[in-house]
Amino acid sequence: MSELAVGVVREGGAGERRVGLVPESVARLSARGLSTVVQAGAGAAAWFPDADYAAAGATVTGNVYEQSDIVVCLHPPDPELLREGQLLVGLLQPLLDPERARALADAKVIAISLDGLPRTLSRAQSMDALTSQANVAGYKAAILAADRYGGYFPMLMTAAGTVRPATVLVLGAGVAGLQAIGTARRLGAVVTGYDVREAARADIASTGASVLSLDADAAGSGGYARALTADEAARQQEAMAAAVARFDVVITTAQVPGRTPPVLVTAAALAALHPGAVVVDLAASDLGGNVAGSVPDTTVVTDGGVTVVGAGNLAASVPRAASTAYARNVVALLSHLIKDGRPVLDPADEITAAVLVTQDGEVVHPAVRALLNGEPA
Ligand code: NAD
Repeated sequence: MSELAVGVVREGGAGERRVGLVPESVARLSARGLSTVVQAGAGAAAWFPDADYAAAGATVTGNVYEQSDIVVCLHPPDPELLREGQLLVGLLQPLLDPERARALADAKVIAISLDGLPRTLSRAQSMDALTSQANVAGYKAAILAADRYGGYFPMLMTAAGTVRPATVLVLGAGVAGLQAIGTARRLGAVVTGYDVREAARADIASTGASVLSLDADAAGSGGYARALTADEAARQQEAMAAAVARFDVVITTAQVPGRTPPVLVTAAALAALHPGAVVVDLAASDLGGNVAGSVPDTTVVTDGGVTVVGAGNLAASVPRAASTAYARNVVALLSHLIKDGRPVLDPADEITAAVLVTQDGEVVHPAVRALLNGEPA
């Protein structure tokens, strides 16, 4: 029986520097009876040269789609590049783009999407790419804020006198927010965190940061927050406008699954910040973010002298660490799905059912099917 080949593609897309497998993945896949094929230049932007993959035992090729049984990516490739029976593993985001899932089903590709993994299932943690990439993004958000801020983050005692540390407020304390809190604290800032979930507030306190208390409380299901009602959101925005004024830096990371990000920092709150304050909106998206007027990949300075950084794909800007973590998630998932060198897709398995999007020419994921039928996911 010949070994199945796992191919890793060169990502397209502006600013995308990550790669789905790294040289260390090659031996790990080999231990599970899988060979590795690498599209030439796939890891170059993440500082993983072709030679390092080849030295690890991979084949470097210009023909990765033809030579692979399993294709690993971050962003979904054009379904026309894939062939019947091929397995595609990536962050395919079928709930955001169900039509692409339908196209993958039409191409008879078996599509497996890492963003479907249950977040709170402990045996799935090593596969959780949303967590690994959010960790990188939260780290980079704090570094970016420190870079854009005109002062020091730590308290410094110098011959020229003592400098007080920066005060940092992190809104939303999921994976990215907690990593931003930890990174800002390691840089020496005095950090406060805020979240609408009680469990997240306990997480903030456990880092040693202060917890900002406003009256909103909105735990949803699966460890996520629910959307606030219009009244709750208005009260939260008003309380936030009063609370943010004393901070030098605000980092926002609040998300509600399937919704546009909630606006936490309104124009009035921005106006309350002092000139030189920095706001980094990790939730900035084309549909809006946590900060009024923030635009992804765009930095603006308000009339009041506040720098607002709309973050783009921050994980891609730390490509070595982000790729290494993502590749470990992929290898962990493949190790779960491959038995004796062959994929075993058991629909009764909680992990498999959550990640399997298309099979046998059909969209099989219930939430994606619902969206395609015009029903809520
Ligand atoms: P996310 O990106 O969906 O949201 C980020 C944070 O924003 C959340 O903490 C959420 O409560 C908060 N938020 C939403 N609306 C808000 C508002 N109006 N005001 C303030 N904060 C608001 O979250 P995530 O980082 O993807 O994490 C999702 C869940 O998965 C969390 O419960 C996390 O702890 C959990 N998780 C668990 C594990 C594990 O069990 N080991 C691993 C990874 C993630």
